[in-house]
Amino acid sequence: MAVVGHSWATIDIPVEVYIGGDYKFLLLLGMKSATSDHACIWCKIHKNARSDMSKPKDFYWESLARSITEIQTHARSSKCSCAHQPLINIPLENVVLDELHLMLRITDKLTTNLVMEMQDWDREDNLNKRPIDRTNMHMDSLIKAINSCGVSFNVWQKMDGNGRESGLLDFTSLMGSDKKLLLQKLPSKLENVVKPETLETVIKLWKDFCELYKLLQMQDPRLDKILDYFNKATRWVNLFTSLGGIRNGYEMARVTPYVHAMVYHVPRFLEKHQGIKRFTGQGVEKLNDDCRRVHLQRSNKWDAAKDVLLVGKRVKHLAFQSYWETGILESRTKRQRIGIVNPGEPNATDLDSLSLEEI
Ligand SMILES: [Zn+2]
Repeated sequence: MAVVGHSWATIDIPVEVYIGGDYKFLLLLGMKSATSDHACIWCKIHKNARSDMSKPKDFYWESLARSITEIQTHARSSKCSCAHQPLINIPLENVVLDELHLMLRITDKLTTNLVMEMQDWDREDNLNKRPIDRTNMHMDSLIKAINSCGVSFNVWQKMDGNGRESGLLDFTSLMGSDKKLLLQKLPSKLENVVKPETLETVIKLWKDFCELYKLLQMQDPRLDKILDYFNKATRWVNLFTSLGGIRNGYEMARVTPYVHAMVYHVPRFLEKHQGIKRFTGQGVEKLNDDCRRVHLQRSNKWDAAKDVLLVGKRVKHLAFQSYWETGILESRTKRQRIGIVNPGEPNATDLDSLSLEEI
């Protein structure tokens, strides 16, 4: 246990330190990037073994588990993807993956795969057509389906250094709230969008990941619930890789450290920390989303930081004004009354008769 004693007068207050965050932040433990051979922070699994879902739940916490002292030793000789000394001395069970970023990265992957499928399908359809007859029919139907979920989304060609189309596609970077909307609404809209031969599997992947994400947010889950989560997670990865070689993006090599951690490390966190929701980066991410929205939609891009602060202040001011115009009516109508003065109009609030203190 990394218990840090904080001395204050004559009292020692024991503090247990935890770190939560996205994968890049957790690399402060001294690891190389997520693409290195042994990229997992908690164990020494090789990247080629990450798609193997046959191991039991606690396997990678036992035979291949890392410890902070081992990372320190490995960093001296650049072994097992350890490149630097950890910035903090902490037991690895107290380093918790953020559920929000796990959802963001995995939905990124699922969305990228949909875009690639549409690109491949349009290419096949256009193969023997004259340039004038070529269309982006399938890509357009995907964009339409995503837009119909209430999410603004577009796909375009990346430009090369000379300002010409590179042939590579890029698409709107979606925020956390957009991705949650897609998880709920998109699966039912993919019916006439993706290729019929793999339609059922693709829809199931989206739906099952939505279910997994809900389970990830369990508070104080029982052991049987955690086991249920683990079994569902392994089945999800097997379903994902079953499309490998049939569609682009689902190969075994695409099982990222995030996906491996979701299956083999998150169950231990759920068990040890009574759920991982308390470690979420949702609050910070919401602020980040708001700043990005302001920068992209409302700023003239000359001084983004100043614009973000100004808009934030304006929104706060407007929210305050609207409270005094309408919000106070709502909050007072919801309040329980000791006596009903006018039973015929239970929602009526006579603002004029309120004293200054009551307002
Ligand atoms: Zn691992």
